[in-house]
Amino acid sequence: MPELPEVELYGRYFARHALGQRIARVRVLDERILGAVRKDAFARMLRGHTFTSTRRHGKHLFVDAGGVWLHLHFGMSGDLSYSRSRRPGGRTGGVPPPRFARVIFDFDNGASLAFEDMRLFGVVDTIPDPDAYIAQHALGPDPLSLRPRDFRDILANRRGAVKSTLMSQDVIAGIGNLYADETLFQTSIAPRRPVDRLSPSDVATIFTTMRKILLTVIDLKEHDRDYPPRYLIHHREEGARCPRCGGTIGKSVVFGRTTYSCARHQM
Ligand SMILES: [Zn+2]
Repeated sequence: MPELPEVELYGRYFARHALGQRIARVRVLDERILGAVRKDAFARMLRGHTFTSTRRHGKHLFVDAGGVWLHLHFGMSGDLSYSRSRRPGGRTGGVPPPRFARVIFDFDNGASLAFEDMRLFGVVDTIPDPDAYIAQHALGPDPLSLRPRDFRDILANRRGAVKSTLMSQDVIAGIGNLYADETLFQTSIAPRRPVDRLSPSDVATIFTTMRKILLTVIDLKEHDRDYPPRYLIHHREEGARCPRCGGTIGKSVVFGRTTYSCARHQM
């Protein structure tokens, strides 16, 4: 399920392939992926426009299309795929679209960008302005543009389990189940520890570790490389051996999500 690092990479992929390209045609293959906008209005708003820049906030990707923004949320299985297989001039050349393509942008140069989503939890939409969207949906700040002091202030009046807090998109935007578990594993803090019982140094360590994990994962995935060997992510299995202390990885449910942690070194 895409979290901040994955969406960051989708943004880079989008920028690499589709910026500066004029949209010749918009094909909505499955209307269920659209948010509030209707199919015809969606196509009309984007056709003839050019994508000029991308902006990510948390797990949301916004693309400036000149007077209107494309908004993408990748849900559980969203993906992008750019294809040059169409022949210049607009002929489709008989190449079928990707199997789970829901929306396809065809560009003047004959190439296409498809938004695919097998499970349809994602959203493709147009919005007037990302800042207004972020405010309306009460999204917290993005962890990569956050200062340690801001993070401390954000957590100051919170209650509840630290894992739930990290995953609440109105507190900070972009952390999901996987990277919340990874952050707490690497900081030796139990997922259920109440956030008001974290020491100032715990909060500082969570902040540094969370950002380091996000940046490391972005960098590794950008170069098609695997997670570092001592990451919890390789050991998300009940009864697995903890790569940090040799303890046993346990499974529980926190914030409604399957959580893996080590009761020996996470307290
Ligand atoms: Zn351990």
